[in-house]
Amino acid sequence: MKLILATKNQGKLAEMQELLTDLPFELVSLAAYPELPEIEETGESFAENAAIKAEKVMLATGELVLADDSGLEVDALGGRPGVYSARFAGAGQGDKANNQKLLSELSGVAKKGRTARFQTVVAMAAPGRETAFAVGCVEGLIAEEERGDGGFGYDPLFYLPLADKTFAQMTPQEKNQISHRAEALAKAKEVLRTMAADILKQDTAK
Ligand code: IMP
Repeated sequence: MKLILATKNQGKLAEMQELLTDLPFELVSLAAYPELPEIEETGESFAENAAIKAEKVMLATGELVLADDSGLEVDALGGRPGVYSARFAGAGQGDKANNQKLLSELSGVAKKGRTARFQTVVAMAAPGRETAFAVGCVEGLIAEEERGDGGFGYDPLFYLPLADKTFAQMTPQEKNQISHRAEALAKAKEVLRTMAADILKQDTAK
């Protein structure tokens, strides 16, 4: 049975593959479907965008699909960039420009005012079923300069006081123990196990 991971973000994909081991699925990335058109994230929430991505790919392929929509909410910016995290500095600008914009918008904000969280909503879509969701969240602070070269996106600026490291200073294994994506995917795994059992039952009853 296939499970398509509906993302073109290599950083996300690597984390998803690491976190979704020991499931009864062959994990397939979107790279296996080059003919699928780009999906526009037109939703106003992480859940809406995750559902749009999972359902569009499910309808186009007929397979079970998992999509993650995630982003950074910064309290001093009223929750921005939120669903616009990937395009904070403008469409196609990339991680470096997003991080620079975040630092400049927070210049002059003291440490205690730099609270933020990463949110992830995972949507799971399968033919003939209602889309299921799982969520994860991790709280931290926005550092005053980029630190570390691991991870992706805002990882060099997302500082976890308990670990005294940014996400980019952690090994992939360390990040995968505490991240928003790890929490959401741990819950998603239980849903996927139930879905797999149901699908198998249906197939044997045919
Ligand atoms: P989307 O979910 O593809 O719309 O984009 C999420 C964006 O949020 C990414 O491009 C990153 O900029 C940011 N993001 C989401 N999760 C992480 C993470 O684990 N580390 C760093 N940045 C993240």
